[in-house]
Amino acid sequence: MSKKVAIIGAGIAGLSAGCYLRMNGYDAEIFELHDKPGGVCTSWTRKGYTFDGCIHWLVGTRDGSSFNKAWRELGALPGPKIVNHEEFIRIEDKTGKALIVYNDPDRLERHLKELSAVDSTVIEELCKDMRKLQKIRTPLGTPQNRQERLEFLKMVPGLFRLTMFYLRKRKVTMERFSGRFKDPFLREAWGRLFDMPDFPMMWMLMNLAWISAGDAGYPQGGSLEFARSIERRYLSLGGKVSYQSRVKEITVEGARATGIRLEDGTVHDADVVISAADGHSTIFDMLGGRFVNDEIRGMYDNWSLFTPLVQLSLGVSRDMSDEPHSVRFPLEKPLVVGGRSCDDLGYMLFNFDPTLAPAGKSAMVIYLQTEYEYWETLYADRDKYKAEKARLADEVIGILDRRWPGFKDDVEVVDVATPVTYVRYTANWRGSYEGWLLDKQNSRYMLTGLKKTLPGLEGFYMIGQWLMPGGGLPPAALHGREVTQMICKKDSRKFTSTQI
Ligand SMILES: Cc1cc2nc3c(=O)[nH]c(=O)nc-3n(C[C@H](O)[C@H](O)[C@H](O)COP(=O)(O)OP(=O)(O)OC[C@H]3O[C@@H](n4cnc5c(N)ncnc54)[C@H](O)[C@@H]3O)c2cc1C
Repeated sequence: MSKKVAIIGAGIAGLSAGCYLRMNGYDAEIFELHDKPGGVCTSWTRKGYTFDGCIHWLVGTRDGSSFNKAWRELGALPGPKIVNHEEFIRIEDKTGKALIVYNDPDRLERHLKELSAVDSTVIEELCKDMRKLQKIRTPLGTPQNRQERLEFLKMVPGLFRLTMFYLRKRKVTMERFSGRFKDPFLREAWGRLFDMPDFPMMWMLMNLAWISAGDAGYPQGGSLEFARSIERRYLSLGGKVSYQSRVKEITVEGARATGIRLEDGTVHDADVVISAADGHSTIFDMLGGRFVNDEIRGMYDNWSLFTPLVQLSLGVSRDMSDEPHSVRFPLEKPLVVGGRSCDDLGYMLFNFDPTLAPAGKSAMVIYLQTEYEYWETLYADRDKYKAEKARLADEVIGILDRRWPGFKDDVEVVDVATPVTYVRYTANWRGSYEGWLLDKQNSRYMLTGLKKTLPGLEGFYMIGQWLMPGGGLPPAALHGREVTQMICKKDSRKFTSTQI
């Protein structure tokens, strides 16, 4: 009889684990608190507009790249049309002057030099690094067979260069890198690129390199459609999924996980339990904090989380197809967003995906960093909570109306998601939509991730964004593959994967 595996969470990590376990003959069942798959990889439709909550770039969209193989195994690619943008983002100053982060390093180099010839050395180094990183291929976990071992051998020189690069650059943060530009505009604009001063510049560079290599496009149809394609693959492999099934407890006998107990009291026994859910609630609620050591306690006490977001989505009855898709611009006066003051505003126009808005209309998303406590407290008084969401939306629409006169009258749908929304629909701790912020404290885990087991507990694994500082879709998908390899190894079974 095949072993039964209970998976908590139908985000990308949980779905991926389900797919690979089914490919290897395990009896897999996913329990998900929401009524749909995807977790934070999601989108929602309001009056004909679809608002996307996740994918800006998906590493692995180029045929033949390392991650492409995983997405193909998971049934997510090929499928949707992939959009490769020419620009990553535009950062404007008060006069409208813009830093355009082109995805092509040659074009980027020319543009940056036009902005500041005195910074040629830094600019050349930046673009050279992008070109170098473009060429490096990384393995999909530990090689499992002869073919994968041969592939891995070919990657060794590149991996060596990547490790050396990491050792040289690991301490360079976005803030430190921006400080190297002599030109005040470039220094200030580059600093606003990510709104996370401690974020490692190397990680930013790797993303730019993947994007510029055409290996990190946007899958048309949006994030929920992307998640649904993996769910379809899982179901076609014979996997089971129970929605609206919140796991309250991971049952343990002795030192072994034996299954899960849902909120309604139902118990589901399993030979192996995998949590692909929020890290904090898995360790401290579902397992009652019994399987931790100082290292784990230290992480949850001290590591920084991604600053939570308010996502303001607008359905606009106007054709904005000629506008750049991603822009940040400074505000005339600061905007207060749940206890935080914002000096600039970034928007993303989904004018590159015609499936997200009716013809001639535009779906737009604005992300605003905010404080979790503010919204958690406010949510206790639902009227005040709604009023604050409405006030914020009005203010932002007013700002955009000054940028595009008449904009206000064209707004026909307004949707505001707060950090509380993220918690309600995905249970991510304190609304941290990507888990741990990648910074100086944890950048050493950037290439390896954290341990997928807990001390003193057998038959249990954790996967997903809380096991990889910085989060992201590729690690989530990869974890499903890796945990299946670990389970197969323990059972002395040969790991296999298939593509459709
Ligand atoms: C705004 C935004 C933009 C992003 N942009 C990108 C991007 O461009 N590229 C990229 O690679 N990544 C991006 N990410 C990050 C990426 O989406 C996530 O890191 C990844 O989807 C995490 O997947 P996961 O399965 O690990 O976690 P989650 O998506 O959080 O999934 C966990 C699942 O577990 C469920 N769950 C939790 N608790 C329980 C419980 N007790 N019982 C049952 N179910 C439970 C949740 O409901 C959820 O479905 C972005 C994220 C956001 C929010």
